[in-house]
Amino acid sequence: MDELVLLGDEALALGAIDAGISSAYGYPGTPSSEIMEYILEHSEKSGDIFASWSSNEKTAYEEAIGVSFVGRRVLVTMKHVGLNVAADPFMNSALLDIKGGLVIAVADDPGMHSSQGEQDSRYFAAFARVMCFEPRNQQECYEMTREAFDISEKFHIPVMIRLVTRLAHSRAVVITSPARKPNILEKTDNTRGWMLLPALARRNWVSLLDRQTDFEKYSTGTDYNPLTINPDFREFGVITSGLGRNYYDEAKLELSSVPSHLHISVYPVPVDKIRKLAESVDKLVIIEEGCTFIEDYLRGYLPQAIEIAGKRDGSVPLTGELNPDNIRGVLGLSQREGLKTDIELPGRPPQLCQGCPHADTYAALNEARESFSNSIVTSDIGCYSLGALPPYNAIETIICMGASVGTAKGAAEAGFEPVTAVIGDSTFLHSGISPLVDAVACNTPMTLVILDNGTVAMTGGQQTIMPSSKLQLLIEGIGVDPAHIKTITPLKKYHAENVEIFKQEMNYKGISVIIALRECLETARKNKKSGGSK
Ligand code: SF4
Repeated sequence: MDELVLLGDEALALGAIDAGISSAYGYPGTPSSEIMEYILEHSEKSGDIFASWSSNEKTAYEEAIGVSFVGRRVLVTMKHVGLNVAADPFMNSALLDIKGGLVIAVADDPGMHSSQGEQDSRYFAAFARVMCFEPRNQQECYEMTREAFDISEKFHIPVMIRLVTRLAHSRAVVITSPARKPNILEKTDNTRGWMLLPALARRNWVSLLDRQTDFEKYSTGTDYNPLTINPDFREFGVITSGLGRNYYDEAKLELSSVPSHLHISVYPVPVDKIRKLAESVDKLVIIEEGCTFIEDYLRGYLPQAIEIAGKRDGSVPLTGELNPDNIRGVLGLSQREGLKTDIELPGRPPQLCQGCPHADTYAALNEARESFSNSIVTSDIGCYSLGALPPYNAIETIICMGASVGTAKGAAEAGFEPVTAVIGDSTFLHSGISPLVDAVACNTPMTLVILDNGTVAMTGGQQTIMPSSKLQLLIEGIGVDPAHIKTITPLKKYHAENVEIFKQEMNYKGISVIIALRECLETARKNKKSGGSK
């Protein structure tokens, strides 16, 4: 046994390593990136795990299914909105006969610190009808990940582990257990559980529904969902999940009576325990991080008469993160004194680094746009999203990975001109290729600008899946006319030349691509420090 100080993400990663994984896949995304980074570092040193970033979350998940099919344990990682991209294989994998343990770690971002939405991944697990673990501290990140692999193999389902930003990115001591050797199961001869032909899928669907009672039995019996009843206090009982438990534990020290309490870490929700708690109290208080997941379930299982206080009635904030202060009111505690300050801190909006190549690209694009009476620039997810803010004010849309290309195509085909889409190299490879194929098929009059800095800069400088040298070949291969694929160097000294190239291609009545090629400064600095290219 070792004692290590780990981030929640790292504790989860080590849990997977010690559970005996053979492989790990993922796509970077805050706050999940450090899970794969920890495994990649381990894999570089020990060589016993195949670990790799993938083009996107969907390909990562499909690669993981392949590992599981041949009997090995595998972890796949992503952020919450990444699960939207992997939703197709994830939902369908619930109907597969999972063999080697398949665990999907999804990190949600309540409060949207670095995300375009606040969705709660527990709904996805419930939608797929699979089990979900929600740790409340780093030790549970480690232990639950190990447990999740056993559960995946026991019930032949993928299992989700849901983290949130504050847990993923905070450190605590973790006590580890002896590592387990990689599990190598035999490939089965009966592969009918892997083929979702309608007749077989119907059978698998019924089997998945039949197994729900086993999942519920597990979640009712596990110590991860502890229930304590205080028969002397009926006024209210408390249900917590995830980090909500930590805030509640702190607040309850000030309560005159300790309420009956159920903590839920494993889903599906333990219905019997919820009913037992509800019978012992007059009101239920729900403290959960994210959406109203548990609260909504309760309303279906409990008599209407019982009062529920939580996010739906405004007793707990419906958006953003929980914290030790914003759950005090629902417990009948007044706000703490002495924590407020009169000092007004100035706003510090995020900014591109000084000298970032994107700044020079936007300067040239903005000047080129001045020659048109009206124009639109769609954009995407990455550091370059900051081009929406002053002093650049260069882009007008940000939706989801790859959406800049499709939305530009639609706007152009509706008759608007000129239309320009701006996307990073990694985001293009993630999900910008397919809409470019569509644009080539229609020879849509639009210009795609690929900001190629050779890295996934916004999430910490992970390596782009394909080197810059291959990007031009890929775009030619898709069918863009080589005469309208231009590469520019976004530097001040080339500004006038770059403006001209933008103007020419924005005037072209077909699909054109401009690659703005220059290394991210932050990645260049890191590479120099480590003595070479990553
Ligand atoms: S990290 Fe790189 S891409 Fe991001 S703002 Fe800084 S220099 Fe630009």
